[in-house]
Formats: sequence, C-alpha cells, structure tokens
Amino acid sequence: MRVIGLTGGIGSGKSTVSRFLAELGAVAIDADKVGHEAFKPGTESWKEIIAAFGREVLTPGGEINRQKLGEIVFGKPELLSRLNQVMHPRVYDMVKAQFEEYRQQGVKVVVLEAPLLVEASTKGASLIELVDEVWVTVASEATVVRRLEERSDLSREQALARIESQLSSRERIKRADVVINNDGDLSDLKAMVEELWQRLNARRP
Ligand code: ATP
Repeated sequence: MRVIGLTGGIGSGKSTVSRFLAELGAVAIDADKVGHEAFKPGTESWKEIIAAFGREVLTPGGEINRQKLGEIVFGKPELLSRLNQVMHPRVYDMVKAQFEEYRQQGVKVVVLEAPLLVEASTKGASLIELVDEVWVTVASEATVVRRLEERSDLSREQALARIESQLSSRERIKRADVVINNDGDLSDLKAMVEELWQRLNARRP
C-alpha cells in the first residue's frame, strides 16, 4: 500500500485533488475529520482537553466547542502546544489504525489530506511519519483570495490574514516529493492529477 500525504495552504486545492484521487481509485482520509472524532464526548482526548482547559470549552450539550478552543489557544504558543500534545498522539493513533485496516483490506493507494502535515510535529506522533510521499498543492495568493471570495467563505482581508498566519508555500515545498501548481482551471488540475496517478502506479511495487 502506498500512502500519499497531501497538504497545502488554505484554498490551494487540497480537497479537490483528494477528490480527484478518490475518483481514480484511492481511498481518501481527511486528518481534520479524524481530529473531530477525537473531540467526541467520552473519548480520552475529550477528557484530557477538559482537564487542561476546563469545562468552559464545552457546549451545553457536552461537545467540545472547537471555535472556542481555537480562540483560547490563538496566539498563545504554550496553550497551543498543550492542545497539540493531547490531539496529535490521538489523531496519529487513529490514522495509523485506519491505515492498518486498509492494508488488510488490500487497498493499494491511500491519500491523507492534512493541512498541517508539515507543521504538526509532536515527537513520536507526527503524521508525516506515516506517509510514503508528500504532495503539496500551491496556488498564488491572488488565485487563492479569488477562489475563497467566490466560495464566499472569507472576505479578501480575512483570506489574506489566514494566508499570512500559515506556513509559506516555499517552506512546504521544501518537504514535497510532488508539487501541484493549481493556478489553472479545474480541467488543468484534473489532467495533472491523472498524470501523477499514472506515474504513481508505474512506480508502485
Ligand atoms: P481549505 O484550505 O479551505 O480546505 P483546500 O486547499 O482544500 O481549501 P479546495 O477546497 O480544494 O482547497 O479549493 C478551494 C476552492 O477553490 C474550492 O471552492 C474549489 O472548488 C476551488 N478550486 C480549486 N481548484 C480550482 C481550479 N483549478 N479552478 C477553479 N476552482 C478551483
């Protein structure tokens, strides 16, 4: 089984590439969604988060309020690191177990979409250790801002602030085995992914 770790900046095209790969036959996992599982009431990580941050991070229904938690740790490296110490090992274990299952089922290619694949490093629990190769989607700032505005997710100012707060594409590319330039249209992107898929299958043992 070959595992692709897919990462990239906000709005750079990760989910679209992941979807194209799934259409071609890969099994796709989203690390953020796995993270959301780890927030579910009653899990070990849920208990540890309450122990670390108090019950004020809970919704009235007992779920973890991710937005509130995000606000609490924003701009506070010690708190963020505390949260990561809880979440990274949990997500790592869940993703690893999922990969084991796929391996046993005879899955040939898995794509793990992980926005923080390169940044998230908690010793012994970094997702990047679980992947065979790193693919990075890249689009220019102007393209990303336009697409996020079109998706009506974020205003121009919000999009720029997010881009600014993230690791630069240059840093991500340093860790990449494959760089996917996504400044063209969707058919360009699809053609690129199809070609990469063929190359992957040609070199896969
Ligand atoms: P996020 O960081 O927000 O999760 P992402 O990196 O997963 O974003 P996508 O959701 O794949 O990026 O793409 C962002 C937006 O741009 C989506 O609305 C998507 O449909 C659109 N998009 C992606 N690639 C292209 C393209 N080549 N041409 C036109 N639109 C595109």
